[in-house]
Amino acid sequence: MVWPLGKGRIIRIPLLPVENELPEQARFSTRLIAWQKREGRHDLPWQQTRDPYRVWLSEIMLQQTQVATVIPYYQRFLASFPDLAALAAAPIEAVIEHWAGLGYYARARNLHRCAQQLVTVNAGKWPKNLDQLTELPGIGRSTAAAIAAFAFGQRAAILDGNVKRVLCRHFAIDDFPAQAAVDRKLWALANELLPDSDIEAYTQGLMDLGATLCTRSKPQCLRCPLAETCLARQQGRQAELPVAKVRVAVPERRSTFVIISDGQRILLERRPPSGIWGGLLVPPEGEAGTVLANLGLTLENAEALPPLRHAFTHFRLTLEPIFCLVSKTSNAAEAGMEWVDLAKASHAGVPTPIRKLLKRVASAKD
Ligand code: SF4
Repeated sequence: MVWPLGKGRIIRIPLLPVENELPEQARFSTRLIAWQKREGRHDLPWQQTRDPYRVWLSEIMLQQTQVATVIPYYQRFLASFPDLAALAAAPIEAVIEHWAGLGYYARARNLHRCAQQLVTVNAGKWPKNLDQLTELPGIGRSTAAAIAAFAFGQRAAILDGNVKRVLCRHFAIDDFPAQAAVDRKLWALANELLPDSDIEAYTQGLMDLGATLCTRSKPQCLRCPLAETCLARQQGRQAELPVAKVRVAVPERRSTFVIISDGQRILLERRPPSGIWGGLLVPPEGEAGTVLANLGLTLENAEALPPLRHAFTHFRLTLEPIFCLVSKTSNAAEAGMEWVDLAKASHAGVPTPIRKLLKRVASAKD
């Protein structure tokens, strides 16, 4: 099979010789399904259910996040919001607080919007149609396919980062997978490879293989069910594939966070619902003198704390904390802020780097 990629560029997939005779596709899925049933993961908390709510929640949490990190969040979230109706009725602040530390907070906001949309517009029912699923907030094509496969047993192709890695290696695809043309072709390939039956085991098998054997570094090819036909393994190119994006310098930003304390409590403000850390609590940002003056607070003592670096997807942030002990407390509620007990602040709905910062402050002030 040859994929044209515009002027003069092609991708060759030698192991898929004739479009309508699919011996390789059949072998690919058969081996993967057998391996998943024998050695794949079967005891994750979101398996053994066809409840689309649970499948959806796990798929959203698993985006960009490892299974071990997701499990406690998933369990706490379900305990508080056991179904669509409970989630739709919850205030967004409570949802964000359950997400605090998991990152990529747009996922939590979309989860809430999606639940509200399904409850108000669709009487709390999930659409089974793939296109309708992808129209819901926060549900992309691959997530929709996973929901369709796991909740409704439908034959639909997933293509997340792990699956792209498996396909790029197995078929020795030499182009950067995020290129639009390559992405289209990977979708076509993912569809061609779909088995006629056992879609749940196949879909789970792809996920398990990408997460446990065909990992980003040091793939365990000797244990891989696809080793016999994997071109990357045959060519010794596992480390080269998938082709990495050309690295560009990540912008660096710095920002001062003013940790205002009256000795027992600290002052936190809630971010607007959208944007970085949307809906979460953080210390006020800006020049300390100006922040204190705006709040009508009297400074007793100020101390610069060691900076802390945090990587976002598109930039790196250096947080420069300054601890300010104040003698006169303001009406925080009027200023749109909350006084939070210092010992408990790191457990409030705060983002991960702020949690680290507050833990440092709490242990230093013990
Ligand atoms: S043989 Fe190795 S590189 Fe190929 S799919 Fe399996 S684990 Fe990945």
